[in-house]
Formats: sequence, structure tokens, C-alpha cells
Amino acid sequence: MCPTFRFAPSPNGALHLGHALSALINFKAAKKMAGQFLLRIEDIDTTRCTPDKIKQMREDLHWLGLDWPEPVMQQSRRFDIYGAQIEQLKARGLLYPSVASRKDIHQAIARAEEETGRPHPRDPDGTPIFPRHLLKNKEHAEGDAAWRLDMQKALTLIASSHSSQLRWQESGPRSASYPQASMIAADPSAWGDVILARKDCPTSYHLSVVVDDAAQEISHVVRGQDLYHATGLHRLLQQLLDLPAPLYHHHRLLTDIAGQKLSKSRGDLSLRKLRDNGATPDDIRAMIQLCTDDLAAFC
Ligand code: GLU
Repeated sequence: MCPTFRFAPSPNGALHLGHALSALINFKAAKKMAGQFLLRIEDIDTTRCTPDKIKQMREDLHWLGLDWPEPVMQQSRRFDIYGAQIEQLKARGLLYPSVASRKDIHQAIARAEEETGRPHPRDPDGTPIFPRHLLKNKEHAEGDAAWRLDMQKALTLIASSHSSQLRWQESGPRSASYPQASMIAADPSAWGDVILARKDCPTSYHLSVVVDDAAQEISHVVRGQDLYHATGLHRLLQQLLDLPAPLYHHHRLLTDIAGQKLSKSRGDLSLRKLRDNGATPDDIRAMIQLCTDDLAAFC
């Protein structure tokens, strides 16, 4: 199989130095392994991901010296494909509709925390786990509901059909919070009953990403360490949907002086601004300090 890498940005803001690092590691790793590099546009949020931003993103990546085969996969054109996967999960009883608003959830958790004196559990991103047991299921029309994964049911199903534990193969750098081992035990339960199809959109990041990595036959998923724990959930979805597991590599993240992960909302570090201020692609490479260590795992 030809080693296949992808850079899969969500064009809901300008690309920043962190994106440049991720895109360049993928691009150079693909070259090093005589494989291919694909661009995928993750624009399921069609309100925030506008054609202008997509155009700008492509220009920024070309300017950095990257190229890729056309046409690129664009998630907003694949809602019917994600919808079919949602329908099959529904038919298997693995999803349930939920109309609870953020406010309902917040209030139910606040009440429970007050009553028990214990903090409500949070997912690896710090979001409170969906408190299904604390919420009454309200009457709804199907279109008003988000569809959540019944995590307990999914885990029971997987446990009964697979004798070995869910794992993934990781080649990313070692650190205290991201231990390196060749095989990592997946912990999807840490995410609780996640939304797989939103109220306003027939899919979600987690569902689309596993469907598309399989559709594009991605052999190496190389992305930032902020998505390390999400991989546990992705492995569960791959198993439920009978999709192959790629190899994973979660690379270092760039931070600002205060140690905060770079984010699109801080436009001052956007590639476009740096370029407008006279930076060259070589300057960008120097700023992100791309080095042989970043590529050592790919040979
Ligand atoms: N679209 C995601 C993002 O921009 C990245 C998805 C991935 O690499 O798995 O954060």
C-alpha cells in the first residue's frame, strides 16, 4: 500500500504557524516515504467555513511550497455519505436523539454537583460528560435533535465481538501527558455519549474524520497532540463502522510565550499576516523550527 498522508484543516479562520508545522510534517513525511500527500477540507461547519477562507487557505499552502492532487476531498459535499453511516448506527440502536440545550445540560450538572458535593466528570478536552441520566428526554421532532452515541452500548458491543482491547499504533514524540509506546490503549469511554450528528448538520468532526480517512485510504494520520485523546474515540468508531485503523502520529504543538496553544482566533500569528509583513516561506520554516526529529518516525 502506498503511504498516504493528509493535512485536513477546518477553514473556519486563517491558517497559523501551527497549521504550517502540521502541513509541512505531513508533506515531508510523504516525500520521505515516497508516498502521497493529500489535502482534505473539513468544512462541515458551512457557516464559518466560507469559500473565501478556503481559497485563502489553499493560497497560503501553495505559498509555503506544498502541492497535492486535485480535486481535493471537501466534507461539505459528502453529507449524504456521513448520513448513511448515521442511519446504520441508528438502525443498530447505537444512537439516541437528544434535544437538551447547553443550558439544560449546564443546569442539570450544577444541580447534581450541589446535591452530591462531587464534581461532574469531564472529557479529555475539559467539557462535562453528557449527563443522560440527569435529563428527561423531551418530546421532539427528529429534525430538532442531535444524535448521540450510546457509549455503554457501543462498548458492550465491541467487547462482545473483539477479544482484544481497542488500541492504536502511535509514533509521536514522548511526553508526560502523551506517553509514547508502540501500542496505546484506547479509552473512548472518557468521552461519554458524544454527538455524532448535530442538530444543524448531519454529521460531526469525529464521524466524518474516520469515514474520510478510510475513504482516502490514509495510512498515516499525522496531526497535533491536541487530538491525541480523540484517537481513542476514533478507534471505537472505526471498529463500529468496520473501517481500517491507520497508524497515528501526534506531533508537538506550537505555543505562544505564555505556553498557550496557538489558535485561529489570534489572527496575529496567521500565515497571511506574517506574509504581508514580509516573511518568506523560509522564515516560516525557521519560526516553526521544523527539524529532523519531527520526521524521524517516518522512514
Ligand atoms: N480538521 C481538524 C482541525 O482542523 C483536524 C482533523 C485531523 O487532523 O484529524 O483541527
